[in-house]
Amino acid sequence: MSYLAALLAISIRYWYAFLVPEEEMEGHQHAMAKPTLLPDPTCLHLKLLDASDTAITAVVTTTSEEAECPLCHGRSARIHSRYTRAVADLPWMGCAVHLELHVRRFFCSNPECECQIFTERLPTVVAPYARRTTR
Ligand SMILES: [Zn+2]
Repeated sequence: MSYLAALLAISIRYWYAFLVPEEEMEGHQHAMAKPTLLPDPTCLHLKLLDASDTAITAVVTTTSEEAECPLCHGRSARIHSRYTRAVADLPWMGCAVHLELHVRRFFCSNPECECQIFTERLPTVVAPYARRTTR
């Protein structure tokens, strides 16, 4: 990029910031990171929200039809069993937020794979064996 083009780019950016109202700029920047109730609404479904004086519990299920085997990376839709994970999410107004996360175990569909049964992974929500969400 030539010196003149670089100078032009800088001045356009400067004038854009000057002319566009601040609220609009901010809306633009945060459009992708809108706060959501669930850590990742693209893979979770809220079944029930329960509140007491000191805590909020969100009963949450996973939405994907299938899951990827962590060993062979093959996909499977054959559910072996279901279980519940208790995970702490970010507190709300100082009150604890608990996720009652209903997850599934799958049969691996690859007969060559050593991993016959695996648990679905939710990398955008919680690490394996973790007690808190990733956010
Ligand atoms: Zn496998």
